[in-house]
Amino acid sequence: MISFSKRTNYLSDSPTLQLNDRIASLKDQGRDIINLTVGEPNFYEPEQASEAAIEAINTHFTHYTNSSGILPLRQNICEKLLIENGLEYAPGQITVSTGGKQALYNTLAVLVNEGDEIILPTPAWPSYEAQIRLVGGVPHFIQLDETTKFKLTPKLLEAAISKKSKILMLNSPSNPTGATYSKGELEELAPIIEKHELIVISDEIYERLVYEMEFVSIATLSEYLKENTIVINGFSKAFGMTGWRVGYSAAPKVIAKQIAAFQSQITASVSSVSQKAAEQAILNFDSSHVDRLKFCQDSLITDIRQTELDLRIIPDGSFYLFPNIKPVLSKTYFGKIINSDLDFCSLLLDKVGLAITPGSFFNAPNNVRISYAKSLEEIQEAGKRLRSFFSGAE
Ligand code: PLP
Repeated sequence: MISFSKRTNYLSDSPTLQLNDRIASLKDQGRDIINLTVGEPNFYEPEQASEAAIEAINTHFTHYTNSSGILPLRQNICEKLLIENGLEYAPGQITVSTGGKQALYNTLAVLVNEGDEIILPTPAWPSYEAQIRLVGGVPHFIQLDETTKFKLTPKLLEAAISKKSKILMLNSPSNPTGATYSKGELEELAPIIEKHELIVISDEIYERLVYEMEFVSIATLSEYLKENTIVINGFSKAFGMTGWRVGYSAAPKVIAKQIAAFQSQITASVSSVSQKAAEQAILNFDSSHVDRLKFCQDSLITDIRQTELDLRIIPDGSFYLFPNIKPVLSKTYFGKIINSDLDFCSLLLDKVGLAITPGSFFNAPNNVRISYAKSLEEIQEAGKRLRSFFSGAE
């Protein structure tokens, strides 16, 4: 009998993958499904990125690279961070990783000891909890809801801090809620973070996808925060490059050194071809994607407001809506009583072919996540199906 490490206890099958299997099987049966569960955009890498990748292949730029990433890419990342975010880093502080996901894992792995507490505002992307547990950390959840617009407040943060607290995990704009912190809101949190000498992991992967608001990185707020924040970002969401697998961390020198050393033992480097693509992509962000996403958001909001779902919070960023389903619970639709977010999503999929994600996947069973990074036509059709579902109420 093989005995596994206790780490494997944290490797439960991702519920998202199970849901995707069900959607795939319905599609195989010929059902017409609109899938608004996926966390990836419907656009692709900039042309300059694919051209650079093709050239990399044709010129045999296909061997190992520096394990922290090729210098021109790290230089371009530094330039982006300086010009767009007002953050000054040297290339030695940047580690290019296999997606933001690995950047995050590297960071946790070099900082967290068994039993350290990581403050995790939730609803949150499920990989945070899994990664924290994999490195022996203990997540300390702060349950957020519509009353604070799914954002951390000074009072909530202060109340969550204990002697074991080491890191605050911040994700703005957030997956799944879209909550995006203003400068003022971050400034209110800063003194508490400093007082308790917390380190911040700031996951800024949706940073370019903000509407009518300026994105502010918490690392810009003070010298302390610059020296104690690790910024995580990547190419998946803003550039539609989920499959290229390029992300990065920007960290204070001492932490960056450890991250680079850790990564060099885990993976030699990110694919050389992908790095060449990313080097060009970062210079060629297409802001029209943001305008298109906003159209989709507006269209879906109009439709949701004609249903019984409760959409009190309009997110300022990301490509998710996170309506509340309490008004639907205990009601009967198509002869079935809805007792949970899972029931609701399942019936919606069965009856009108619309797939959305149950909020319980993110520790928020009163909500559902709807990803609108699709074509406007698909979003309009999704809205129509949502409305038609509710006309089936009894
Ligand atoms: N952080 C958040 C909040 C995410 O939603 C995701 C992807 O879904 C990631 C990080 C990681 O993205 P990637 O590894 O593709 O860069």
